[in-house]
Amino acid sequence: MKLRVLGCNGGIAPGHGTSAFLINDSLLIDSGTGIESLSPLEMSKVKNVLLTHSHLDHISHLPFLLNNIINSFDEPIHVYGIAPTIEALKKHIFNDIIWPNFLKLPTGERPCVVLNTVNYDDVLEINGLRVRVVPVQHSIPATGFVVSSKNTSIAFTGDCYQNDVFWLALNKLAPVDMLIVDNQYGESEKDISTLAQHYYPALLKKDLLKLNYKPPLFLTNVPPVDNHAIVYEIQNELNDWKPTILQTNDFFVLKETEEN
Ligand SMILES: [Zn+2]
Ligand SMILES: [Zn+2]
Repeated sequence: MKLRVLGCNGGIAPGHGTSAFLINDSLLIDSGTGIESLSPLEMSKVKNVLLTHSHLDHISHLPFLLNNIINSFDEPIHVYGIAPTIEALKKHIFNDIIWPNFLKLPTGERPCVVLNTVNYDDVLEINGLRVRVVPVQHSIPATGFVVSSKNTSIAFTGDCYQNDVFWLALNKLAPVDMLIVDNQYGESEKDISTLAQHYYPALLKKDLLKLNYKPPLFLTNVPPVDNHAIVYEIQNELNDWKPTILQTNDFFVLKETEEN
């Protein structure tokens, strides 16, 4: 399984984009500004999009992606999200006010995008990948995903705050090869962290200890600039996990063997 990090920050800056991860060239997790780094040819290869939630930094560039492919697509792009996410797209984005209703374009019979509602614990089969929909905690309804191919798997929390549900769900699955978790704030920002429902290192540590193993840990949403204090805190609090702070353009290949 291949993972390309297109965007992994909560905001934009040169060389940094918001949430977007590309798996095996055709499956996007989130469609934030990070997808700007895809060439038109690479964009045309995107067939499915998993959305963690409807916050703008996770969906902002879905409309532009559709705009780019609308004259050349063979099959519609399938978008997957929990009901509140799908409803938000219909009501607030593809409403013929903010953006045309691409659910009926270029024609109602042959639209360029299909929205699919998923539920927690669903397991989807997408292009040879297994995708499990796992609950998380955030300021609005949101979901995480565990994407597996043969014996490899990657878990994404999306935006996330202290909870039991995600960690209990993960404990029921085979150990993941990569755990990609949100850590937007430092401990001095506890109040905003609670309000916005994003982890800070000490809180994340409490939840990581709910897991019955120590997965390879990768962090998203870490501020890209002026981040010395928070990086120090991450290294200090999460030292047992030796976390990697993800960067735009990071690329990972998980080696697959036949399933056990
Ligand atoms: Zn969010
Ligand atoms: Zn976010």
